[in-house]
Amino acid sequence: MIVQKYGGTSVGTAGRIKRVCRRIAETVRSGQQVVAVVSAMGHTTDRLIALAQRVSETPPARELDMLVANGETITAPLVAMCLQGLGVPAISLTGPQAGVRTSRQHSKARIREIRPERILEALEQGKVAVVAGFQGATEDLEITTLGRGGSDTTAVALAAALGADACEIYTDVDGILTADPRVVPEARLLTHIGYDEMLELAAVGAKVMHPRAVEIGQLYSVPIHVRSSFHRRTGTMIVAEVPMEDRNRVRGVAHEKQVAKITLLSVPDRPGVAAAVFEPLGAHGISVDVIVQNVSSEGHTDLTFTVAEGDLAQALALVEGVAKEVQARGTSHSLGLAKVSVVGTGMLGTPGIAARMFRTLAEAKINIEMISTSEIRITCIVEREDAERAVNALHSAFELDQIPAPA
Ligand code: ADP
Ligand code: ASP
Ligand code: MG
Repeated sequence: MIVQKYGGTSVGTAGRIKRVCRRIAETVRSGQQVVAVVSAMGHTTDRLIALAQRVSETPPARELDMLVANGETITAPLVAMCLQGLGVPAISLTGPQAGVRTSRQHSKARIREIRPERILEALEQGKVAVVAGFQGATEDLEITTLGRGGSDTTAVALAAALGADACEIYTDVDGILTADPRVVPEARLLTHIGYDEMLELAAVGAKVMHPRAVEIGQLYSVPIHVRSSFHRRTGTMIVAEVPMEDRNRVRGVAHEKQVAKITLLSVPDRPGVAAAVFEPLGAHGISVDVIVQNVSSEGHTDLTFTVAEGDLAQALALVEGVAKEVQARGTSHSLGLAKVSVVGTGMLGTPGIAARMFRTLAEAKINIEMISTSEIRITCIVEREDAERAVNALHSAFELDQIPAPA
C-alpha cells in the first residue's frame, strides 16, 4: 500500500489533474493499493484567504477554516472522477470522512487520531481512496485545517495510521535541495536527508515539507520520498540514517521572510517573568522563535523574541496585557525581518561553523540582529531585503554548490 500526495502546482489545471491520474493509474496497475492525498488547485488557498479579507477585516478563525478547507474538497472529486474515466475505480473522501480527527485550534489544528474505516473499505473494494488533504474535524465535527502546507501532514499521518509501505510527496521541484531553488539557482538535490535535519529545515522555512509531517514520519518510521510530479527521476528519501557518503557538515540553508520582532522593555528581572510572557502565546498556538534576553542592569532587562508576521497582531495584544501585569516599561515591535538558517547533523562536534556563518554575512555587509542555535542549526535574524543575498552567500561558503549531481 502506498500513500501518494500531490501538491497544489501538480493539480493546478485540468490537464495536470489528468496527468496525475495517469500516474496513479499506473501505480494501481502495478498491483499496489493507492491512497491519494490532494491539495487545493494552484493558488486556490491564497485566493480564498484574500477573498475573506475583502469581506472582513479580521476573518474569524472558524469561518476561515470553513472557507479554505473547500480548496481541497474541490480537487478530490475531480481526481476521483478523472480516475474513473480512466477505468480505475476510485472514491473521493473529505478529511473528516477519511477519519482525520484534530484538535480545535483553527488554522493550526493538530491531528489527534485517524479512524480510517472508510479508506480501508474503499481499498477492500479495489478502489483508490482520494482524500482531501489539509482538512479535518474535531470530535463534534467542527471543520479545521492543519496550517499552510498541511496536506503533507495528512499524507504522512495516513501512511502511519494505515501502515503503508511508503509515502510519496509529489511536488514541483526535484526533491529536497540544499536551498530553495527559486532563490539559489545552484541548489543541489540531496538523495537522502535525515528526519532531524529535515525537521529543522522545515521548521525554519523550507516549505517543501510541512514540519509536522516530518515529525510524524520520524515518530512512526514512515519512509518519505519527496519527488517531482513532472518527471520520473527519484527525488529525496527522508530517512533515519543517511548513508555516509552523503554527509556534508552543513546540509542545507533555509530562509523565512515573514518575521516580526517584539520587545518587552525594561522587565523586572525576577523568576517567572518569561513564563508569564510565553505561556499565553503558547496557549494561543503562537510559536515563538528566536528569544534574546539582555544582560540585566539595575534589576531590569529587555526581552526580545520573533514570531511569524501573521501572528504579530495577536501576539502583541497578548504581550501588551502581560507587560502591564509584570510591570514592564512597555513594548515595541518591528516588521520587515527574515530568518536565515544553516542546518546539518554534521555540525555536531565541528567547531567553526558559527564563525564561518558570521564571517560570511559580515563579508556580504549583512547585519545580524539576533542569533539562535540548536545542536544542528544556526539561525540569524537579518533585514528582509538582505535575506536572499545571505542565503546565496552561505550556500557557496558551505560549498553546497559543490555536491555532485546524483547518478
Ligand atoms: P506543494 O504545493 O507541492 O506542496 P510547496 O510550494 O508547498 O509545494 O513546496 C515546494 C516549494 O518549496 C518549491 O517550489 C520550492 O520553491 C520551495 N522550497 C523551499 N526550500 C526548498 C528546498 N530546500 N528544497 C526544495 N524546495 C524548497
Ligand atoms: N492548500 C493548503 C495550502 O496552500 C495546504 C497544502 O497545499 O498543503 O497551504
Ligand atoms: Mg506544500
